[in-house]
Amino acid sequence: MRTIAFGYSTLCNLKCGHCVAKGEIPETATMDLGRARELIHEMAAAGVRGISFTAGEPLIFFNEIKALVRLCHDLNIYTRIVTNSFWASSPERASTVVKELKQNGLNQLRLSCSRWHQQGVDQQNLVHAAQGCKKNRMDYFVSFVTDFSKADDLLEDFLRANKLRFFPEPLILSGRAQAFDHGPIHTDFQANCCAMNPYITPELDMYACCDAGSNFTETRVFFLGNLAHTGVDALFEKNEQNPLFNLIRTVGISSLALFSGIRSRDIITYRKCDLCRQLLNTPATLEILEQAAGNPENRWTR
Ligand code: SF4
Ligand code: SF4
Repeated sequence: MRTIAFGYSTLCNLKCGHCVAKGEIPETATMDLGRARELIHEMAAAGVRGISFTAGEPLIFFNEIKALVRLCHDLNIYTRIVTNSFWASSPERASTVVKELKQNGLNQLRLSCSRWHQQGVDQQNLVHAAQGCKKNRMDYFVSFVTDFSKADDLLEDFLRANKLRFFPEPLILSGRAQAFDHGPIHTDFQANCCAMNPYITPELDMYACCDAGSNFTETRVFFLGNLAHTGVDALFEKNEQNPLFNLIRTVGISSLALFSGIRSRDIITYRKCDLCRQLLNTPATLEILEQAAGNPENRWTR
């Protein structure tokens, strides 16, 4: 099923210290609303069945996003909004906002949460937002971005104490978090497969990966093209037919790392996106992997 992360605008009311969006140029850009509507029609025709409104803070543009959600609903596209919950300053306000989104057909809210987000948004807003979702029968979950350190224990305790449905989301050391400590981790040998949800920017650039992908500045390996010049269907096909991307999805980045010559005991010290960057943001390694991925004689699985 085709799905996409839709960056209507990179504008945000926060400046979280870990934000992966930093580094995009220009730092804030907003899509033309008419163009966004046309794009959603094109996406529906190309078989897109899920859109996640993300990038900066989508609900700064409440009326515009609401209209786009309504359009998606009318075109039978599942919708999610990723938000920092700044709008949920009271139970009443949260319920009003959720109710209006529900009436326009929104399927799910993803409430972003982390010790960096919560420097700008009261953590109680998460509770208001979740309660507003429950009251209005809106599906939701809390995306708990964490570096798995003890520094996050208090926030996790808060989520548990308030019975919020949450899932840990590993911190991606990209964008503003690029400067954080990339010290080694130690796991067992994991495949590190990646679903690679594609992403479009307000400037209509489409990337094969919505997380750190637009920050691979040396190779721009995940850049698929610009929707002002190429159709939605063509860029999705380019993404789906890329042999290297298909290996990332199915075999995983660890096998690519093995093939490129990285020792297994070193592979287990990398976070997934760091390993991906090590391989695919290095032009020489990328060239080797792209050639190898297209060769059916290479066996990538046991
Ligand atoms: S992480 Fe999200 S809420 Fe924080 S600055 Fe980035 S886009 Fe805004
Ligand atoms: S592992 Fe690679 S493809 Fe997957 S999210 Fe990270 S940077 Fe993107």
